[in-house]
Amino acid sequence: MSMITSMQQGNFNFFETITLDKLAVGIWPLPPIYLLLFRSSQLYENLTRKMTSYPTLSPLNSDAFDHLTSRMSVNLDDFFERNVEWAEQYPLKWHQEQANRPQRPQILWIGCSDSRVPESVITESLPGIIFVNRNIANQVHLDDANTLSVIQYAVEHLYVKHVVIAGHTHCGGAEACLDEALHPGHLEPPIKNWLQPLVKLAEQVLARKPVDPLNTLIRENVEKQAEHVQGFLRSKKITDVKVHGWLFHIETGLLEDLTAC
Ligand SMILES: [Zn+2]
Repeated sequence: MSMITSMQQGNFNFFETITLDKLAVGIWPLPPIYLLLFRSSQLYENLTRKMTSYPTLSPLNSDAFDHLTSRMSVNLDDFFERNVEWAEQYPLKWHQEQANRPQRPQILWIGCSDSRVPESVITESLPGIIFVNRNIANQVHLDDANTLSVIQYAVEHLYVKHVVIAGHTHCGGAEACLDEALHPGHLEPPIKNWLQPLVKLAEQVLARKPVDPLNTLIRENVEKQAEHVQGFLRSKKITDVKVHGWLFHIETGLLEDLTAC
């Protein structure tokens, strides 16, 4: 059960415990017996219920839309303040365990650098779950030591059994490749070099005159990169790793499983 589902159903978990205990200690610096009484009281239960809905409601706050329209300069201190708030949601023991144990991620996510597709956020995954490689337009180039090293390390040393190629709708990288295929010359190195294979794929897509060239290219790009991963795994004689093609729909916030290759 996901964290949000759990919270929507009013299940009690340690997030509320920590927050409410801090609240109680802050308001009433009293001996532990009062804290125990408070925790068994109706007030505590009501507060817990009220707070369980906060994480799902918070994206609807008007503040959540500000960054979409504003280009005001960012206050970097905010990131540190939010980091402290985030860190304090978890017991120190949890952070220490993260440090004391080797990482054991469940999947390797090869996605686009687009800021609207943060893999751990959109899948509600805790740190330690997803090993990541992100680049413009979720490419897997067979001459790119960066991406290939990530794949190699993930499967050979971290024993990851699932590699996900994650594309997304409204991909600016794919859009740029369609533009370049239609009107060559507007891309410049190094982006031009990086996107060259995708421009070639865009030319092939355009030649077929599909109804929706951008989404066709985005989907075929996912398939193509999944093939590259499979080819690389074969060259390493790795046969027990599954490669998946997923598509994140920015307009709905939902993931689609395109293929289980
Ligand atoms: Zn993108």
